[in-house]
Amino acid sequence: MRTVELPQESDTLEFGRRLGAALRAGDLLLLDGPLGAGKTVLTRGIAAGMGVTGRITSPTFVIARVHRPDGDGPALVHVDAYRLGGLDEIDDLDLDTDLTDAAVVVEWGEGLADQLSDTHLMVRLRRREDDVRELTLEPHGEGWTERLGELTG
Ligand code: ADP
Ligand code: MG
Repeated sequence: MRTVELPQESDTLEFGRRLGAALRAGDLLLLDGPLGAGKTVLTRGIAAGMGVTGRITSPTFVIARVHRPDGDGPALVHVDAYRLGGLDEIDDLDLDTDLTDAAVVVEWGEGLADQLSDTHLMVRLRRREDDVRELTLEPHGEGWTERLGELTG
């Protein structure tokens, strides 16, 4: 587990960029935190790090969006879990991409944990009283513990 302080929005974007640059097809990231914590801002950084240049907005009304990078590399599937009953529902969304070819980032409320893949990186975001964001990374399952070093080092 590792906690990072992100004082400014630009810090969150930059952290996301580094995270995004290290993502691979098949990766699952769960972003946990209340409204306004910075999940969408972080996803914008992740997208930039993956080479996606399109606009990233909260997929609240569409549930999920697929963003393809300009060059090579996996697509980003950006999911809003507030309206999703379970991650298996993503398969029903007709996303026009194979999830195993994509990095999946779920903006996440609570409670879906049992239905999700055991192997994921849990990213918790919290807004402190002084407005600084605290980001905590929790590796779950195969591989993520080892990869944390390269992601945050
Ligand atoms: P969420 O998706 O978690 O609901 P958003 O990313 O949409 O949250 O919104 C975060 C809001 O907080 C934005 O308006 C952003 O400008 C602001 N903000 C201020 N400081 C930060 C920071 N350090 N990191 C991320 N967002 C920040
Ligand atoms: Mg959001």
